[in-house]
Amino acid sequence: MFSVAEAQQRILTAFSPLEVEHIPLEDALGRVVAEDTMAQDQLPLFDNSAMDGYALRGHDTQEAMRERPLRLRIIGEIPAGRVLDDALKEGGAARIFTGAAVPDGADAVIEQELVSVVDGYLIVEAPVAPGTNVRRAGEDVAKGERLLPVGVEIGPAELALLASAGVSPIAVRRRPRVAILATGDELVPPGEPLAPGQIRESNSIYLTAAVTRAGATAIPLGVARDDEDDLRDKLVSAQDADVILSSGGVSVGDYDLVKQILGEQGAVDFWRVRMRPGKPLAFGRLGDTSLIGLPGNPVSAAVTFELFARPAIRRMLGAASVFRPRVEAILDGPDIARSDREHYVRVRLYAQEGVLCARPTGDQRSHIITSLRGASAYLVIAIGEGVVRSGERVPALLLNDGLPWGDE
Ligand code: AMP
Ligand code: MG
Repeated sequence: MFSVAEAQQRILTAFSPLEVEHIPLEDALGRVVAEDTMAQDQLPLFDNSAMDGYALRGHDTQEAMRERPLRLRIIGEIPAGRVLDDALKEGGAARIFTGAAVPDGADAVIEQELVSVVDGYLIVEAPVAPGTNVRRAGEDVAKGERLLPVGVEIGPAELALLASAGVSPIAVRRRPRVAILATGDELVPPGEPLAPGQIRESNSIYLTAAVTRAGATAIPLGVARDDEDDLRDKLVSAQDADVILSSGGVSVGDYDLVKQILGEQGAVDFWRVRMRPGKPLAFGRLGDTSLIGLPGNPVSAAVTFELFARPAIRRMLGAASVFRPRVEAILDGPDIARSDREHYVRVRLYAQEGVLCARPTGDQRSHIITSLRGASAYLVIAIGEGVVRSGERVPALLLNDGLPWGDE
């Protein structure tokens, strides 16, 4: 049986970044930069004012003092979006507003609060050093500079940078198409009536949401019965996806057919991982399409999605880092026994005096959905003997930026 790390590596080697496409910035949130991206222009584009005030030549003001104020003739006004037609000559000043281009000849801006205006003249009572309140052209980004390296995920700040530097469209990897298939005779889509013994199906909606958050396109295929033909038909019809995620039907019971159909229509690479929850995890291919067979229990499906399916999606998107960040947190809760399987414990993170702490969210059995809800990390309890005690530092995988955070 493989360890989690071994299983992750085997799965990752089966995936590569998808094709590059060029899309407008408006559509690029959550995509990953596929080619080095260079600034079309320098930033700021031109010298501009950081203040509402008056543009002047710093050199002209070097003798100015309270007792002997300097008078500069105001020759015009420059709102943002306009330029002054003429250069500023010795003894001149121009009304200027934040973001407006500093005129040729001028090299400083004095805040309007520090001056007065009398009869069209600016009264300056102290020297203004050249460069004061001027945002220099190119001080943020040089033209042709690399804005973003390959593999970076595009978030709001990346979009603002790309937009400012004139980049659009942007080269990204196509979104992976992820087929999602639930299996089980007992499953009924939520909202439909339940017969005795049936339960509401929740893995599809969970996985659809998680796949979407991971940056891929989810293709929910509904529920396959615990019937060879139905399952085969549905799996075969899913083969145009970039990866198939099934849930359920991978343990050793009589009705656990996913593995059987994989073997028959493709190949099983492995079907168990030394972890808890989620030991029955199948990986293989159906024709040319990889299939990750997640366990059916909702918590096991969620944890194995995070550990195995999300990295595969991130790899296809071209992300430089495919795994969740790993941090250390102080266990705040009952002792946790080590075992012969790596144990993933749902915890809620909070800070105490600036130190990251982790409180288990409740009953850790794999059918307890309330303890999946509210978890912001999974503590990783390594294989071994004895117990991890409250107060010990334990590695934790941060989910969704460590949210939800603190108490409810
Ligand atoms: P299985 O792996 O098919 O034996 O399923 C393990 C457990 O998870 C059983 O209690 C199933 O009823 C439950 N289960 C399987 N699939 C789902 C699903 N899509 N939604 C909710 N529960 C499920
Ligand atoms: Mg089942």
